[in-house]
Amino acid sequence: MARRPIIAGNWKMNNNKAATKELVDGIMYGVSQLDASKMPEVIIAPSFTSLWQAHDLIRNESKIALAAQNVNPNPSGAYTGEVSLEMLEDFKVQFVIIGHSERRQMFNESDEFINQKAKAILAKGLIPIICCGETLEQREAGVTDEHLASQITKALDGISASDVEKSVIAYEPIWAIGTGKSCDSIEANRTIGEIRKVVAKLYSQDTADKIRILYGGSVKPSTIVEQMAQPEIDGGLIGGASLKADSFIELIKGAM
Ligand code: PEP
Repeated sequence: MARRPIIAGNWKMNNNKAATKELVDGIMYGVSQLDASKMPEVIIAPSFTSLWQAHDLIRNESKIALAAQNVNPNPSGAYTGEVSLEMLEDFKVQFVIIGHSERRQMFNESDEFINQKAKAILAKGLIPIICCGETLEQREAGVTDEHLASQITKALDGISASDVEKSVIAYEPIWAIGTGKSCDSIEANRTIGEIRKVVAKLYSQDTADKIRILYGGSVKPSTIVEQMAQPEIDGGLIGGASLKADSFIELIKGAM
């Protein structure tokens, strides 16, 4: 069974109320011109403060799904500044990005915490987009594949095959994020193939064939077609190029 491609925009800490409206309106207009039967799954991940507005704007647009950029795995309580899954459910959030390198590096999130988040997300019936990726030092030291295997094995610890099949992994080499320097498509394809082998070893080939694995790291309208032509790459997780409606629409078209 073919895996349905995904184009996901990670807005990061961008877009106030006015910018959210402009961007969502632009994306909605763009997707209204596209053939739904050929479209990838389109996901936008606004910041928490824009989720309600984005939800309200897209409520009648089935071609766009909502993701959160983070969640706290605990159900409720004394976690100042955090947001729970129950809160996200109010906005019909379907996906949650976890394990992004910015959270791992700047907010010291551990593999164990990411695993707790993945389990909590799946228990609520939402889908985690589990990010993994190596630093430039790790790549140059030749330890990329083992580093990714470790991140994925720990993130999926204790998760059933049926939940893994629904999940999404995003391979995002840290040196390619926000740098304008995308990973070579052939190498991104090879690396994602290695991640799929890890899933096959942990579960089965069938599970590995079902899970969708995205590439992220300076994806642009000029790179997407070549990236999507790679058999292992099931789509893109996109930061910078998702912040303008016209470039996000070009990315969607590049995945059609
Ligand atoms: C990201 O942060 O998920 C990302 C891939 O960013 P960019 O596309 O800007 O490199």
